[in-house]
Amino acid sequence: MNTIDRSHEFAKKSLNFVIKHGLEANPVNFEVIYSYTQGYNKSLILAVNHIVKSDRPDKSAALAQVHSKLISNDSSSNKVDEITSQMANEVDQVSAMISAALGQSNDYSDALGEAKSVLSETIDSSTVNDIVQSLVSATDDMKNNSHLLESKLAASNRQIFELSESLSDMRTEARTDQLTGIANRKCFDETIASEIEYAIEKDLALCVLLGDIDHFKNFNDTYGHQTGDQVLRLVASCLGENIKGRDIVARYGGEEFAIVLTKTNLMNAEIIANKIRNTVQGKELVKRSTGDNLGSVTICFGAALYRKGENIEDFISRADQSLYLAKHAGRNQVKTELDLPMKKEA
Ligand code: GH3
Ligand code: MG
Ligand code: MG
Repeated sequence: MNTIDRSHEFAKKSLNFVIKHGLEANPVNFEVIYSYTQGYNKSLILAVNHIVKSDRPDKSAALAQVHSKLISNDSSSNKVDEITSQMANEVDQVSAMISAALGQSNDYSDALGEAKSVLSETIDSSTVNDIVQSLVSATDDMKNNSHLLESKLAASNRQIFELSESLSDMRTEARTDQLTGIANRKCFDETIASEIEYAIEKDLALCVLLGDIDHFKNFNDTYGHQTGDQVLRLVASCLGENIKGRDIVARYGGEEFAIVLTKTNLMNAEIIANKIRNTVQGKELVKRSTGDNLGSVTICFGAALYRKGENIEDFISRADQSLYLAKHAGRNQVKTELDLPMKKEA
């Protein structure tokens, strides 16, 4: 079954589920149920089962909660908003402190100005004494205030540093796949766009590999999702072992991975893909809990070379078509866009 057929299958199952359980067919509900029928998000499955079994009238609200907790990354963007607003507050406070300090320094300079004008009119020693006294006290005030400002600024500086660290952790978390620890789809989408710009600017070759584990559904059905998850982590680490420099490895979808290969032509992309394929195939899988030997999994790759001026979708689509060629040719293999029938004629 190809990707489109599979997606139709999930969509049909999702709609049947929505109808069967009398749920409102709104986009949020549909996205949750679609993910439910795909069957790999355990927490989501448990949450949905709980909701549909209950007799609560507001099932849509409950599903919306599941959506915001387990699907959308709203929660992380909320945290980013929160940190950003704390930073803005801190900056406001600092600028208020600076304004106050500037006001004090104006007062001080007024006091100096006044002293100067009185001094130029008098040489009476008691007046000079008074003036010197008032200048000493204005200078003391100024010194105290600037110490206070210094320590407040130091505290704000620490606070801003901590907030910017949290912000950068949040940013990394939002771009990382939780299961495998490699880049997620969002990060991939951003990176490929910037790498294309870089390749155009420097006139460099750029390739993309799309990989998909073979018969992974069977694997999950036979050994269970948890063991499947371990395999996803293992495959992710095999990808990481075979790349270098600016290259980026990402989890593209369930059991699909994408690799951006910078400064790499199609021939080398194919060589790298075959290296990864061999690494994956060579890993002997052992079930942790029982020590059982589970054999190994295999993976297919499709490779495409970026053509100047084309859009990202066309570029990735050639890698995707090559991947499906590899699947149909018997799996555990690599195909490139040169293997696509139409491109040969061109
Ligand atoms: P093909 O060789 O054609 O790629 O067959 P396949 O079985 O790998 O492809 P299919 O798309 O039919 O199934 C993909 C499977 O990947 C289904 C799902 O159970 C599994 N999967 C997707 N995401 C995860 C995940 O996060 N964890 C686990 N354990 N399995 C997942
Ligand atoms: Mg797949
Ligand atoms: Mg697969």
